[in-house]
This record gives sequence, structure tokens and C-alpha cells, in this order.
Amino acid sequence: MNLLNTLVDKGLRRETPTREEALAVLGTSDDDLLDVVTAAGKVRRHWFGRRVKLNYLVNLKSGLCPEDCSYCSQRLGSKADILKYTWLKPEQASEAAAAGLAGGAKRVCLVASGRGPTDRDVDRVSDTIKAIKEGNEGVEVCACLGLLSDGQAERLREAGADAYNHNLNTSEATYGDITTTHTYADRVDTVHKAHAAGLSACSGLIAGMGESDTDLVDVVFALRELDPDSVPVNFLIPFEGTPLAEEWNLTPQRCLRILAMVRFVCPDVEVRIAGGREVHLRTMQPLALHLANSIFLGDYLTSEGQAGRADLEMIADAGFEVEGTDQVTLPEHRTGGCGSHDGGGVCGTAPAGAGACAGTSSSGGCAQAEAPAGAGTAAEGAGRADGPRTDLVAVRRRGAGTDLAPNA
Ligand code: SF4
Repeated sequence: MNLLNTLVDKGLRRETPTREEALAVLGTSDDDLLDVVTAAGKVRRHWFGRRVKLNYLVNLKSGLCPEDCSYCSQRLGSKADILKYTWLKPEQASEAAAAGLAGGAKRVCLVASGRGPTDRDVDRVSDTIKAIKEGNEGVEVCACLGLLSDGQAERLREAGADAYNHNLNTSEATYGDITTTHTYADRVDTVHKAHAAGLSACSGLIAGMGESDTDLVDVVFALRELDPDSVPVNFLIPFEGTPLAEEWNLTPQRCLRILAMVRFVCPDVEVRIAGGREVHLRTMQPLALHLANSIFLGDYLTSEGQAGRADLEMIADAGFEVEGTDQVTLPEHRTGGCGSHDGGGVCGTAPAGAGACAGTSSSGGCAQAEAPAGAGTAAEGAGRADGPRTDLVAVRRRGAGTDLAPNA
């Protein structure tokens, strides 16, 4: 297929595809699916080999959020029966992180519900970062605390944070249908703050909220302009007790096309399969490793993932290898320092003639809503469920905030 040959060539050159090409990937048929995976897989292997980076989520503070992100089980008014607790102490968080690191994770993602941290919260998280870093040489720590105020990103960086996650989640045009308590511009501003402080920016999306193909392409192109180093791709986990509980629009095939599109648009960036991997890709998860170079190990913020051991077996069975702490995740041109790139690799500021790419709750966490008014339903959607799918979505009942051993 000419389209795929063109996209592979562009991906190897870090050249931006056109919006039409990105849309065409989402519009391919099931007959062409393996060709799409093969093509995007070439780009993935060119920049990341067969390495899979493992990330581990620690939910520092769960539930009781005053924001109304419709996709989120922790939102204002959520009836989801999730764990609710306030800030973990540094030693509790460090203990939870240790389980993930022992399981092979390279990055720990410290997440807290809420609009954004107070300065006291930043102090707490700084102590937690230090506790994790002291005991684990080479570990990467990413914070995900919501909207940042001036100076907070710098303080997190000084405390040793490597990265900051804040997702755009959906297109600017539909953002107001998903969340009303903050804006798309607020989110963009926080990603800029993280970048400016020298943190590696992590920002991604949530698919399956009733958005159109155009919305998906819009948000991925917006991410490319923001130049994150990592892009988490969440697939909506429709939680019982949230406005999107019956929003089952995704099939495994559509998830693969979305991941392929993200890989073509952001070829040299860490593309991470985040929340909803098990729920929506199901038995197709191994194929998705040909597109993404990063996943979460074990459980998510408020929902269960598959057993950590099953993640490791899947990676080995599919012919991939877990990335070690001694291996650099990003290609050399993107590693001029945490969150910085050499003059040639900046997304959206391509060197002459190259059109180079720039580089997201990552966790199926921070953010769920009534189907956005007027948003198109995914063409290949599985259709709306008759009700919540408690057979597919299990609430996390172990690990951080409980007395039970975590899944790692
Ligand atoms: S996504 Fe974050 S800010 Fe939004 S409701 Fe959930 S915890 Fe609150």
C-alpha cells in the first residue's frame, strides 16, 4: 500500500505525516490491519529496537477529587466503588514503588488525584521522590499531580523528578464536553511549565470517549507540537458510577490502528500503552507491542491490570525484551538532557527539510464524561453496552492504600 510505504519512509526520517495520511490509517480495513501493524512496527523497531519499557503506577492519593473529568473514577460525584485515601507517606509510597521495580519497572509514576498540588503537597511528593531515589539507583521518577502553579515544576525537578505527566486527553474542540472545571489551555500550560523546568514532558490521550477520527488526529498533532518525550495512549476504562460507564466504542482492531497512527505521527517518542490495555486490546495485546515501546506493569490507579508476571511472559513470548536501567529509552537525538533535545529533534521545529517530530493519566487515571455532545461515534465501535461491564473492569483492591501486596 502506497500510504504505508510513505508513512514508513516519513517515520524513519522523523518527518510529519499529513493529517490526511493520519486519518487514512484510522480508516484502514480489517483486511489491511496486519499490513498497518507491520509498517508501524518498522518505525518502532528503527527507533526503539525490541525494547519494552516498564512503568509502575503508585497512586499517592486516591479519589475525592473536586474536578469533574467525566472519564475519571475519582471525579466529583463519582459513584465508582474505588479505594479512597489521602496522601501516602513517603515510606509507604517507596515500599509500593519497590514492588514495581523488583518486577522490572524502570520508571515509577507518582500520581495524586486533585486539581493540582499545594506547595505543601509538592513538599510531600519531593520527600517521596527522594525516598525512592535513595534506595533505587537508576530509577526514573515521573510526577502526575495535576495543574502546576508557577515554580512547582522547578521544585519537583530540584527534588529529583525526571518527568512530569499531564495529558491533553482529547481534542481542544471536544475538551469542554469532557471536563468543565478546567480547560484545555490549562492543560497545555502545565505541559509547558514542565518543559520549561527541564522535566521530561509526558502527555497523551484517552481514546474511546465518543470522539471522531478527526478529534483523535487533532489531539495527536497537538501533542506532537507540545513535544513530549512520552505519549501515553489510554483506552477509556468505562467505570460503573461514572458518566461514561456505557461508552464501549473500542475494538482491539481500532486500538491497534490508533496506536499505529500515534507511532507514525510521533515516530521517535516513547509511545506507552496505558489504561485500558487489557480491557480493550484483550488477546491482541502482544500485537500492540509492535507499535508501542512502553507499557505499565501490573495495576492501574483505581483498576486492576493483568498480573505483572503475565505482562513479563507476554513480552518474552512476543519476542521483545524488558528495557534495563542501563539502557537509554529515547534515541540519541532526543537525549540532550531531561526534557531537552538537540537542535534537530524538536517536535514541530524540524530541521530544514526533515520535518522532525517532537516528542501522555498515562494511567487511565486522572480524568471520564458524558459522551461529548455532537462527537461522532467511532465508526468501528463495538456499540454501546447494555450496562457497565463489571466482567471486564475490576476495581483495584490491593497495593497502595491497602494492606495487600501490590500486583507487580
Ligand atoms: S482526572 Fe485528575 S483532575 Fe480529573 S477528576 Fe480525575 S483525579 Fe481529578
